[in-house]
Amino acid sequence: MEYPKTHTNFPSAPYNTVCPRCGTTITTSAKYQFGLCTWLACGILFLTGIGAAFCCLPFFIKSCKDVDHTCPSCNTHIGTLTRL
Ligand SMILES: [Zn+2]
Repeated sequence: MEYPKTHTNFPSAPYNTVCPRCGTTITTSAKYQFGLCTWLACGILFLTGIGAAFCCLPFFIKSCKDVDHTCPSCNTHIGTLTRL
């Protein structure tokens, strides 16, 4: 049984929790992914005339990315932090 969770109140850094699948107390492994917010920030920078040179900036900023939390011992997906 998977526990797909996607919401905005996951921590953006690895955090301690109990894995819903293997029951181990773990520190999640956090993976940063490009999300909707990344693309939006990119679009806004582009449209406000700051220019194409900077519109890729959000792709390098962690706080603009979604964060995927997985269990390091069984690789179960625990949750995803989305920015919007
Ligand atoms: Zn696990």
